Amino acid sequence: MSELKGQVVVVTGGASGIGKEAALQLSGKGASVVVADFNESGAKEVAEQINQAGGSAAHYKVDVSKGEEIKALIDWTAEKFGTFNGIFNNAGIGLVKPFLEMDPESYHRVIDVDQHSVYYGMYYGAKKMVELGATGTIVNTASIYGTAAAVGSFNYNAAKAAVVMMSKSGALELAEHGIRVVGVAPGFIDTPILGDDQEAKDYLAGQHMRGELIKPEKVASVVTFLFTDAASAINGQTIPVEDGFLSYKIR
Ligand code: NAD
Repeated sequence: MSELKGQVVVVTGGASGIGKEAALQLSGKGASVVVADFNESGAKEVAEQINQAGGSAAHYKVDVSKGEEIKALIDWTAEKFGTFNGIFNNAGIGLVKPFLEMDPESYHRVIDVDQHSVYYGMYYGAKKMVELGATGTIVNTASIYGTAAAVGSFNYNAAKAAVVMMSKSGALELAEHGIRVVGVAPGFIDTPILGDDQEAKDYLAGQHMRGELIKPEKVASVVTFLFTDAASAINGQTIPVEDGFLSYKIR
């Protein structure tokens, strides 16, 4: 499979969960991948796994909440691989608190990591592609909580709703430069972000039509498809990958 041969793609949050699986699958389709994460040793392991399997990858330590670090990541990628064709803006955190305890620090932390990071990746990523005369794709990780409210998630709801709209708004302006912007909105995915409260995870699993948490590979396969030419007519939209979670009220 070499649909993405010659493409150079950055994956943020690539050390774990959805980002890790996306890095592996993008490489499986021939892309060169920069695995970027705050967790440097985890990112290194994923890049090594890709290289050992015959792919082409490098790792990079980044804090996605800092615009200058994202800019440096993208500059470094283009320098190292000779071009740059897209970014999967995926790194994120959750910080659940009742609204009356949603102090400014808790609010801003999630907005910085989950929302502003996406702007930085889109802005510096698109500027780099235009500068290089390259075309490509930007994929953003939103959430079902970008359209549905959840108790304790005011910060996360706000950030992910912004991501849904940034994909639309960015797509509108970047299409003329040959850059598509799309998103994914996962349901509950079996990754470390969910923590280790098994009872809570079992409850969440039960809210999906198949009664189980979704595997990160299932989100990654949609993300990988969105990077390919087969998805060239999908633009600005955020694709739900939620096993029917939003389709009903009572289960
Ligand atoms: P995960 O915890 O497995 O992976 C997140 C990765 O992001 C980690 O490797 C972490 O080190 C990295 N990261 C966190 N903050 C960072 C920062 N400031 N700079 C750089 N890297 C940072 O979780 P995941 O489930 O794979 O999450 C990926 C994305 O999917 C997030 O945006 C999350 O909000 C979103 N999402 C997850 C779920 C779910 O149920 N797992 C549901 C909807 C959306």
